[in-house]
Amino acid sequence: MIDFNMDKFIKNHLLYHRLMYIAMMFLAVIMGLFKIVDSTNLIICTCFVVAVFFVCDFVLVKLNYFDSISVYLIIRFSELLFYSAVQPFILNEIFIAIPVMIFCVLISVEFVIYFSDMDVLTINFRKMMIIIPTVVAGIVGILNMDEAAWLAFMLAHAIMLMVIFYIVEWFVKQNSIYEDLTYKLNIEKSEIESTNEKLVEYQERVKTINEKINYQKIDLARVNKELEQANIEIESQSEIMRYMASTFDVLKCINVITDTVMEVKKPKLCALYIDKDVFMNKYGSCIIKTNYTSMQRRLKKEIEDIYSDVVEKKLNSVTYTGVELKKFKFIGEVNINSMAVMPLIDGSEYYGVMLVGSDDTYFFSKGLKYYESCIIEFNVSVKSTQMYLKMEEMARKDGLTGIYNRIYFTELFAEASKTAVEDNCCLSVALFDIDKFKNVNDTYGHLAGDMVIKMVASIAEKYAEERNGFACRYGGEEFLVVFPDYDDKMALEVLEKMHEEIKSTPVNFNGTDISINVCIGLSTYPSLCDNTNILISRADKAMYYGKKSGRGRLVVDNPQVDE
Ligand code: GH3
Ligand code: MG
Ligand code: MG
Repeated sequence: MIDFNMDKFIKNHLLYHRLMYIAMMFLAVIMGLFKIVDSTNLIICTCFVVAVFFVCDFVLVKLNYFDSISVYLIIRFSELLFYSAVQPFILNEIFIAIPVMIFCVLISVEFVIYFSDMDVLTINFRKMMIIIPTVVAGIVGILNMDEAAWLAFMLAHAIMLMVIFYIVEWFVKQNSIYEDLTYKLNIEKSEIESTNEKLVEYQERVKTINEKINYQKIDLARVNKELEQANIEIESQSEIMRYMASTFDVLKCINVITDTVMEVKKPKLCALYIDKDVFMNKYGSCIIKTNYTSMQRRLKKEIEDIYSDVVEKKLNSVTYTGVELKKFKFIGEVNINSMAVMPLIDGSEYYGVMLVGSDDTYFFSKGLKYYESCIIEFNVSVKSTQMYLKMEEMARKDGLTGIYNRIYFTELFAEASKTAVEDNCCLSVALFDIDKFKNVNDTYGHLAGDMVIKMVASIAEKYAEERNGFACRYGGEEFLVVFPDYDDKMALEVLEKMHEEIKSTPVNFNGTDISINVCIGLSTYPSLCDNTNILISRADKAMYYGKKSGRGRLVVDNPQVDE
């Protein structure tokens, strides 16, 4: 690749000239030393040529010729004119003439191409101009030379001009190659630049997109976290639902709900209070989950009042923060900054309250939906439990009298027997039958008979329940009463009272008082009978003994009843 740059070449102009001066001086010294020419003439001439050159360069530098093309051109042209004019006088000394002519060639080339911008018109114009010094040399020559020498001189000039033109052409060509190359390189450069610009633009775009992606990533992470939490909540609710569907134990359900809320929502407190009689519970039931035992203690005492307040004011779910929390004394020194109080309502009936407290003021900012869903699930569970308990109760009780039936009695009696045997306690059983009941039916009708059965049943139940026992309708007009922990004497005392009450309680039917009597047989484990499996049959035998021996009697188990 040709590395030629005209601008650079021009800028180094002075350096080339100085190199030329040194070369000239060196040539002169060599020639002088080897006696090739008359050294004095050569050195003088060389010094003269160099001196003229040097002066010209000095003037050009002083005049700052790079800024003024015209100054440069005038000086160079004058120089050429001068050398052309002196040439005819120095031709005799060929070693002087040759360096002068070489210099003329070099200066002419400079003159034509320097600061021409390689413009064809400018170069052609300058080419024309350098013919002028040749013409001057010709005119001076013809006046001072003979014809033959002049012709040779002119021929030399013609050759010189051709050499000049040839060198100029060479420069022009090099320059155009260089320019072509530069042009191509420029195009490539601009293409690279535009590609670069595009790349930078793309880079910018990629950066912006990356930033957007980063934001979206953050958003996505947040949404993911929320989804995860929602998933956990949904899963926990279906867990609660599954659990509730599998049991009719309301207290266990409350435990599961409060535990789940603590685990999923991580509050500082979760409490659930259920009013009495909701699931056959005699007292209000309360489950409190918190790490603060003193607050738990205080809330246990206060929760009933909180529930009463909710019922009285018919409050819906409310969230309390800041000073509003002061009304809840149980919080005390614990760091609770927000609290939700949510009533448990079945239709329009209040039956409990749920409390959730947190140290975060904005804990409930997303609403109470999760807790309310739990409450709705619990409502369903409570309802189905109530229904189940009702049905269970119905299955256990006798339709006419409302006391336990024989089937359930068997269960209760088995349990009581087991306890008595294991704990080595007493167990008294009484079986009784209405005397001559058929007559009641026959005389007053079955309705009257039913009323009598009901009266006897209710008295039997009353005596049993008052003494932690149980009673049942064993058959048509036969009843069983069981007194756990009662020995034969204690049982006898109670049964005598009960017998007395039955006898002295007439049943009024259509204005007529119907009085009846019963025959009672009593047996007691272990004093009278050491085997609980035959305890009922022993009582039956005693009762039957009573029937046989005149009815209306209370018979205590004894060996005689076997006869
Ligand atoms: P005893 O003193 O020997 O026990 O004589 P009794 O008449 O009471 O004995 P019996 O077993 O002969 O009669 C029982 C009667 O009770 C027969 C039956 O019609 C009647 N009865 C059984 N269940 C009911 C009931 O639910 N309602 C009515 N009204 N009568 C019933
Ligand atoms: Mg009878
Ligand atoms: Mg009978």
